[in-house]
Amino acid sequence: MTTLILGAGKTGRAAYAFLKNKGEEVRVFDDNKAVLDSFGGDAFSSFEGITRVILSPGLPILWPRVHTIYRKAKLLQIPVISDIDLLQLENPNSWYLGITGTNGKSTTTALLGFALGKLRSHVYVGGNLGTPALSLPLREGGAYVLEMSSYQLEASQISEFNVGILLNITPDHLDRHGGMAGYVYAKQLIFKGMTAKGFGIIGVDEPQTREIYDYLFPLMGHHLIPISTQRILDSGYSLQGTKIYKNGEFLWNMDAHPKLKGPHNGQNIMAVWAALTILGFEDGDIRNAILEFQGLEHRQEHVLETKEGLVFINDSKATNADATIQALKAYEDVYLILGGRPKTGGITELIPYFGKIRHALLIGEAADEFAHVLKAHGVDFTITHTLEAALNFDFKTPGTVLFSPACASFDQFNNFEERGRAFKDRVDARHHKES
Ligand code: ADP
Repeated sequence: MTTLILGAGKTGRAAYAFLKNKGEEVRVFDDNKAVLDSFGGDAFSSFEGITRVILSPGLPILWPRVHTIYRKAKLLQIPVISDIDLLQLENPNSWYLGITGTNGKSTTTALLGFALGKLRSHVYVGGNLGTPALSLPLREGGAYVLEMSSYQLEASQISEFNVGILLNITPDHLDRHGGMAGYVYAKQLIFKGMTAKGFGIIGVDEPQTREIYDYLFPLMGHHLIPISTQRILDSGYSLQGTKIYKNGEFLWNMDAHPKLKGPHNGQNIMAVWAALTILGFEDGDIRNAILEFQGLEHRQEHVLETKEGLVFINDSKATNADATIQALKAYEDVYLILGGRPKTGGITELIPYFGKIRHALLIGEAADEFAHVLKAHGVDFTITHTLEAALNFDFKTPGTVLFSPACASFDQFNNFEERGRAFKDRVDARHHKES
């Protein structure tokens, strides 16, 4: 058996190492010659002898155009599968928990992995988040908590989840899925094969997710659990303010959690709670495990609180306006540090939340565009250009200094992680100077 790995990125490399380790024959292909050359594995030259293809999620296969190698493999009837499929083929007797959605995948995956790790042993967390699935330890009876992007779902043919979570769907990555319908279709594949035995958890706050729920409910019945941050559901999980309800009855006030704030995190917590309940754990144990979670770096990360009552929050992962809205919903009296390389639409989506902003500090390429919008709505602001200058601002009254830029980082940083670390370093430096 010779496997062709299509795409030599992180997932492809992990698949390559996994198969080589088993002593199998492997070939690799990538459209990007430089990536392929740097990979150094046995390059693909022809389909002769190839019996299986493993598709990397980074590689567009159907949209905006059909990939020629993918098309040929299909015509030759060579099975095309994903790394998640291979993991499940190699290790069938384990638990698989899959998480998808437009926003909140990483937080929910990390929270579920963490909480489950408190409740049982041999829990492995990865997929689209962090470690590729095939680099995780292979252990029979393990529990694999996997973040699934829409690309990974699209690439998977045979894998099924014991518990699948779909958090939310808003337009994203539409070019790769041929439009919204294709994107929604890919996302619902998290529930593939579940009608008989698996459990699904689904956010029902958007028309697209509600449609999936309405379609699946007759097939899955009470194996499909809805969650809403907008209305109390008789059956399923709901959030009102900071209170979580299960089947219409009060369950927990998430106010008690030191790190997870805002209704979006309420959605993430409810999804995790539902999953752990399905796996048989008790409410009290679930609550205690969730309470210990420290949050993820760069997602509304609590950095520091000064004795003057200034709280510094690093939300560098907020690379679009939608994510910044979630952060504004979670805090009051906000000094908002905004900017970077703007996305289409800029900050117009934020306008309904402008009342939360005490003062905005604008950095990066977006500064002038954003200044224009803020001025038109009477929001106080200062253009500081850099993060460093923004942190030298004289924050006179207590409040939250929120770095939630609503922009990509590439104008001043290599990625959002580097940008977030720069923020934290400067907050630290500022603090040491003052104390
Ligand atoms: P993903 O992995 O889907 O990109 P993350 O957990 O990394 O999601 O969060 C990305 C951004 O979206 C963060 O700024 C975070 O505050 C926000 N976010 C987190 N969870 C949700 C949710 N359930 N709904 C909407 N936004 C969310």
